[in-house]
Amino acid sequence: MKSHAEVVVIGGGVVGCSIIYHLTKLGLTDVVLIERSELTSGSTWHAAGGFHTLNADTNMAALQGYTIRLYRELEEITGQSCSLHHVGGITLAESPERWDFLKSARAMHRHMGLDTELISPAEIRKLSPITNTDGILGGLYDPLDGHLDPSGTTHAYAKAAQLQGAEIVLRNPVLETNPRADGSWEVVTEQGTIVAEKLVNAAGLWAREVAAMAGVYLPLHPMEHQYIATDAIAEVVERDQELPHVMDPAGESYLRQEGQGLVIGFYEQKCVPWAVDGTRWDFGHELLTENLERIEDSMAFAFKRYPVLAEASIKTIVNGPFTFAPDGNPLVGPLPGLPNYWSACAVMAGFSQAGGVGLTLAEWMVEGEPSRDVFAMDVARYGDYCTPAYTREKVSENYQRRFSVSYPNEELPVARPLDTTPVYPIWKSQNAVFGDSYGMEQVNYFAPAGELPYETPTFRRSNAFAIVAEEVRAVRQAVGLNEVHNFSKYEVSGPAAFDYLDRLMAGKIPPVGRLSLNPMLSKKGRIIGDFTVSRLSDERFQLTASYAAQAYHMRWFQQHLPKDGVSIQNVSRERIGFQIAGPNAQTLLSRVTRTDVSTAAMPFLSVCEMDIGQCRALVQRVSYSGDRGYEIYVPWHHQVALYQLLVDAGSDLGLRPFGMRAMMSLRLDKSFGSWMREYKPDYTPLETGLDRFIDYQKPTNFIGKAAVLAEKARGATRKLCTFEVEAKDADAVAWEPIWHAAEVVGYVTSGGYSHSAQKSIAFGFLPIDLVAEGRIVEIEILGEMIPAKLYTAALFDSKNEYLRG
Ligand SMILES: Cc1cc2nc3c(=O)[nH]c(=O)nc-3n(C[C@H](O)[C@H](O)[C@H](O)COP(=O)(O)OP(=O)(O)OC[C@H]3O[C@@H](n4cnc5c(N)ncnc54)[C@H](O)[C@@H]3O)c2cc1C
Repeated sequence: MKSHAEVVVIGGGVVGCSIIYHLTKLGLTDVVLIERSELTSGSTWHAAGGFHTLNADTNMAALQGYTIRLYRELEEITGQSCSLHHVGGITLAESPERWDFLKSARAMHRHMGLDTELISPAEIRKLSPITNTDGILGGLYDPLDGHLDPSGTTHAYAKAAQLQGAEIVLRNPVLETNPRADGSWEVVTEQGTIVAEKLVNAAGLWAREVAAMAGVYLPLHPMEHQYIATDAIAEVVERDQELPHVMDPAGESYLRQEGQGLVIGFYEQKCVPWAVDGTRWDFGHELLTENLERIEDSMAFAFKRYPVLAEASIKTIVNGPFTFAPDGNPLVGPLPGLPNYWSACAVMAGFSQAGGVGLTLAEWMVEGEPSRDVFAMDVARYGDYCTPAYTREKVSENYQRRFSVSYPNEELPVARPLDTTPVYPIWKSQNAVFGDSYGMEQVNYFAPAGELPYETPTFRRSNAFAIVAEEVRAVRQAVGLNEVHNFSKYEVSGPAAFDYLDRLMAGKIPPVGRLSLNPMLSKKGRIIGDFTVSRLSDERFQLTASYAAQAYHMRWFQQHLPKDGVSIQNVSRERIGFQIAGPNAQTLLSRVTRTDVSTAAMPFLSVCEMDIGQCRALVQRVSYSGDRGYEIYVPWHHQVALYQLLVDAGSDLGLRPFGMRAMMSLRLDKSFGSWMREYKPDYTPLETGLDRFIDYQKPTNFIGKAAVLAEKARGATRKLCTFEVEAKDADAVAWEPIWHAAEVVGYVTSGGYSHSAQKSIAFGFLPIDLVAEGRIVEIEILGEMIPAKLYTAALFDSKNEYLRG
């Protein structure tokens, strides 16, 4: 083994092998993979080998499509067969809700170039005569689905990487990983020590243990999983064509042909987390004890769906463990706070995802950033609220929901409440319906007194519709109060703080007492943050952004932090409070402070420290609802006192608390985009309109400057637009295709119902030559073509006169 390498990958499962293949494909040859035993010695060897493209996140689905298309290329490069069976797959819909789910998945696939198709029960029977379609409404057919040989495929990745210069060291457990002063890693193995400039943890079943060697915790957990293979079945033997896969979500099962028999696997409700206290190092090529009792209900269901199974004899039962993150997506990317340490773990569907994971990681390492937004699998989408117990509970929930319908308004109940603010009990007593963001409870809306505080999950307008309308009305006509804990907050200070922020942010850094809206860009000029930068003094700033992006943003801040002169602290949990918004907000604020808060003294986009009652507060004149409003930040322990003050002072002003549902409705008629919907690394400032906040002239060479200047000179090829949609009971949510002249020309980024404008509104991208005031397009919502009209001026306060007044 070498003593030094540019990249060392720990783990020779399908993921580690895909990473070294992609690194070499992008031109990096000084790459070493170290495997404890033989290749495939973790989860990989006993996988059922199925692959599919379905994923709730579009970019994940696209990467799964990439993975599947890669296999032929691997076979060609290496001559090693992956034993590909492109038999296609059908996902069944047994309820109107699932049928809606499949329709929205189909719509989403249209602009991703995936040729899925909705098919009838008769078509399902034609493709898969062994499927009993009683009670089935239809199915989604994906011609890309299929299965392969897990071992052959892993070896194909490995061989392709070796052909391009990668080195693979087998039978060599990594024992320690130690950070070195120069930022590289010392990797101590049984066969000696190697220094890695960059280290990748792709240790699968042992990812937790390998992470612990570096003193970090990765939120993943292994689960037991069982599938059954049958002996030959007459109905299968008689066919001259291989059967397609069938996913039966109602029965929590997937089924495929294996030889002349069938394989059926289950995601059962009585699931079992495996190796709770850690994976034993001597766990080898072994299976776990089978447990048919755990899957007997699922099997009884399967006998009805596939009657041929009832008579079939069992050839083998496989019970093996594999790892999941709390949301079931992989944990990929540089670990926040640990320079040059990369994660490629929790890949639960290695044969659908490993190619995309390998490509992403390789692009990130070689080119500095992935070619698309990968937040859905970024290891930094989780924070320190993820303890092992939290992870275990969430992973079990995710396993049980593997085949559940995911609704756009759904809130998952397990491991909650976890983080709460001091006013949580007050909200609870007011019948609040909560959502969770990054472990923190936040109010979605307040259910009417006497009603169960529960929003029905649906693709259509929910039972919250009427009450959210009332909350919106209170804001627009009087004054509303909402917590600011859905913002992350960072305190940046020190003599070099200005220079640091001036380089990090693409916009103007404001003078003392003012705030500016500021895009943060990657080197390639993509949007990686939309911040409010508030200048509290010459050398002290507060930044606010999305609460859910804390680890993601802190990683970037730390990666660019100079050695001296700047300190940055994440104060998201410590600095909380409320926003008040609406025509009466100024009067309300003036009643609780002696500071002059008139527009002359405290104009729009100003920031000021003041006393509110007994609380020392930081107050910003800005509001995401688009109303005249203020954000009031106080220390954690003053939040209840501040609440009481505001409520007492606002009772005759029509003050009413409102939740995130109302907030997201309010932004619509202002055409305000939002983080991870309109503003994310897939998009650029010019495409989204954020270019108006960029200071192209500033002398500082801010990150992304060259890219956005080049884009400005070139012009954008697509543009984010606002549409008025003739929706009836289902609004656009995200990813719905936009049609024009019988072609898909764009897609929706987000949408909803604007209670204030009383219109259904959607934001979405169109090619630049189609952007025109009044342009009529069609948006495909749940399989229906809904006319929509493009408009350019915000429906509410388009000149911002009320906002600034
Ligand atoms: C029963 C079952 C059925 C499945 N069916 C499917 C399916 O149909 N389709 C699908 O896509 N996926 C399926 N999976 C999941 C699939 O197996 C995993 O997604 C995939 O194998 C994960 O690969 P990996 O490389 O991340 O991890 P692993 O396969 O666990 O590989 C990790 C490797 O790291 C090595 N390693 C660990 N620690 C060290 C160390 N300290 N030093 C050196 N080496 C180390 C291990 O020896 C191991 O080889 C199934 C899993 C099971 C259990």
